[in-house]
Parts: sequence; structure tokens; C-alpha cells
Amino acid sequence: MDKSFALISLGCAKNLVDSEVMCNQLLLAGFRKVQPEQAAILLINTCAFIVPAKEEAINTIFAAVRDRDAGLSPTDQKIVVCGCLSQRYAKDLVKSMPEVDCFVGVDLICRIAEIAAACLAGTAEKVYTTQVSTLLPDFGSSRYRLTGGHFAYIKIAEGCNHACAYCAIPRIRGPHRSRPLSSIVREVRECVTHGVREVNLIAQDTTYYGMDKWDKRATKTSGVDSSRGDSLASLLRALNEIPGDFWIRVLYTHPAHWSRELIDAFAECDKVVKYVDIPLQHISAHILQEQRRMTDGDYIRKLLRDIRAAVPGIGIRTTFIGGLPGETEDDHAELRDFIREFRFERAGVFAYSKEEGTLAAKMKNQVHHATRKRRANELNMILASIADEMGAEAIGKTVRVLVDAPGIARGPWDAPDVDGSIHVPVSLPVGEFAEVKIADAIAYELFAEGAEEAEEQM
Ligand code: SF4
Repeated sequence: MDKSFALISLGCAKNLVDSEVMCNQLLLAGFRKVQPEQAAILLINTCAFIVPAKEEAINTIFAAVRDRDAGLSPTDQKIVVCGCLSQRYAKDLVKSMPEVDCFVGVDLICRIAEIAAACLAGTAEKVYTTQVSTLLPDFGSSRYRLTGGHFAYIKIAEGCNHACAYCAIPRIRGPHRSRPLSSIVREVRECVTHGVREVNLIAQDTTYYGMDKWDKRATKTSGVDSSRGDSLASLLRALNEIPGDFWIRVLYTHPAHWSRELIDAFAECDKVVKYVDIPLQHISAHILQEQRRMTDGDYIRKLLRDIRAAVPGIGIRTTFIGGLPGETEDDHAELRDFIREFRFERAGVFAYSKEEGTLAAKMKNQVHHATRKRRANELNMILASIADEMGAEAIGKTVRVLVDAPGIARGPWDAPDVDGSIHVPVSLPVGEFAEVKIADAIAYELFAEGAEEAEEQM
């Protein structure tokens, strides 16, 4: 049996970690990793968070089928669709996509080698899913890292206990469950030993970390509090003790769970990079309430001021959604003013995408799709002009960077794949930290001294 496989990972970093787990399972079972056009079995790990993600997944599946039909990949190649799309729609997709050999839901990633072998032998079921996602693998360091040698995503929890009205993720990924703190510390320690310089802590909601295990049940607005059990603050403090020169970056923090203790942990832990990702989504009180974000405008404004006061130099990244159901021109204006006032170091705005099965999709007061786009575009233009100002302010500053590739690095305010990059001299070693002086900027894209000359040589 030809046990060659390829894996296409779509969607977010959380999905990428699942892809890494699957790659490792397959390699341990004797499969070989090859390019998609050579693979006996092609796995496509999909996202189904919003409509564009579903479209991307479906286009990728059809492209693989076309390649197989055209003989660009083995004509007997097995195509397996994994991840959120399968978890959510497998039963419908079986009928509409008969060309796909097998659909595998999010809880079956640790059985992927067995399923792949059955697929190649022609004995697999068409669908492998569970009703509710409950899996919490020990995403140990033995997984196959697709990010390369110097940075890693560390999934600290799976699932989500929130019920944001616009979001389908809790239905797909199930309730929140946290990994043991010791398991995360062990994984990070091993990563650092193997040369990782940046660990990115990820989950659907990193600020809820540990709360699912507290004796007295946490609520949707409980603040991070390590006197009640493990928490993101105690995790950061434990990771900060690991010897070595590395950054800890925290992504996806829900604003409702921030607390004084967490702010202090960010301020005091020198390895925690001065960057925080807080998806705010809106600022209007009634929109936040109707979307069940468990926050209001006053709370968010105070939180941002407290973080900036306690952690000088911090870069705050956020996202907003334009045109949520019920959003009036006044709500939009409030959001516009808020963005101008707080001048986020990194931010993006998406037009609201109506997700079937969510509460928001059933709301009567939907905003016209053209209005959603117009409002999102307007906010993105404001963010673009703030980004230009931020870039200009960076000129002349010395910044510590992590070199990702020859001539390309990231600074503290740049998470991998989502933020900007810094052009640096190609002589700087890849996978190591360096200090560079910023000479020029185009918005979030910065140019260090010596970078231009290096580009001319290429
Ligand atoms: S916190 Fe809200 S937006 Fe984030 S995954 Fe949970 S339900 Fe979705």
C-alpha cells in the first residue's frame, strides 16, 4: 500500500495545531509526507467559521477533485475532508460532494491514521463525526510542527463557553476545556530546548484558561483569578520561569475576563511580549449586549486605559465587526469615534457575515449587505491612516525583532500571519532575535536600516 499523504491546512492557527497533530499521527503510523500532486491520500483540514472560510474550503476541495480528474495528481487519490466543515455539515456534504472519499470531524484527529489506512484499503466509512466536540488531546511536543523551527502555536484549551450571538464556533468546537498547566509548561519547555524563540498561546478564549476547573463555577464575566485555581495569569508566570531567550505571545483574549491580576502578569513577566490581542467587535452598549459580548463600552474603555497605563509600550490588537444586526448610523459613528480616539496599534474590521444556526442570523433587524460593507470599508480606511501614522512614529526607533526568513522579521506588535512585518538585512540569521533601527515605513510594514541595500542585491 502506498502510504504517502499530503495535508492542506485552512483557517486559523487553532486549526493548524490540529493539522500538526494529524501529521504526527500519520507519520507515527508509517505514512510519508509528500506534495499534494504525489499523495495517495490528500487531507484538507477546513474552517467553517464564516461564509468566506466555507467558500475557501469548498473551492480547495473542488480544485483537488479537478486535479485528480485531470491526472495532475494520482487518479486513484483519496480525498479526505477534515475539520470544522466536516464537523458541521458532513451529512449534507456526503450528498453534494460524492467525489470526496471521507469526511472526518474535529474530534477524530487522533484516529486519523486508522481512518486514512481504511480509506486506502477501501473499507472506510463515509463520515466520522461526533455529536458534540469534547476531545482535548495532549497537544504534546511530539506533534509535527508546520510552522518551522523558531515559532510555535501552543493550544492551551479547546472549545468555548461563550454564546456570542454571531458566532457558530461553540456549536462546532464544543464547551471550553483547559489543558493541565503542567502539560503546557512541559510542551513550551521542550519547544524552547529545540530552538523555538516565540510561543503563541492560542484557544478560542485564552482568558478563560483554567476557569472550567475552578471549584466554584466561573461565569461568563469572571475575571482571571489564580486564587481560585489555574488561570492565564498563573500560566504566564509559570512559563516566564522557563530558562531561555524566547517570547510568549497571547492571542484571542476575551475582554470580559481581564482582571487586575492579568494586567499585572503582562506587566511583570519579561518574556511576555508587550502585545495583546483583544477582539472587541464593537463599542456600542446595546450592540454588545444584543450580541452577548458580556461587556459594555465603559468597561472596555476603562480596560484599555488600565492596560496601557500598566504596560507602557504595549501594542493592542483588536478586531471589529461592521454592520452587526441592529447597528444604526449612531452606533457606527460611536465605533468610528472610538477607533479614532484609541488609535489601536494593530486592528482590522470585517463586515458582518450572517451565519446560519446563530442567534444573530435570526434577528429581524439585519443591516443591508451593502451598508455592512460600506461601514466596514470606512472603518478600515480610518485604520489605514492610523497605521500610516504608527509607521511614521516608528522611524528612528530601535526594535527587537525575530527573523522569520532571510530579510523578513517581526517585532513585538506583529503576531505571525495576522500583523505586519519588518524588512531587515538578509545577513541576519533566521530564527534568531536581532536589534534593528527603523529607517522607513509603509503603514504596518517597516524597513530597518540596511534592508533596502539587501533587497537591491537580491
Ligand atoms: S468568545 Fe464568542 S466569538 Fe469567540 S469563539 Fe466564543 S462564542 Fe465565538
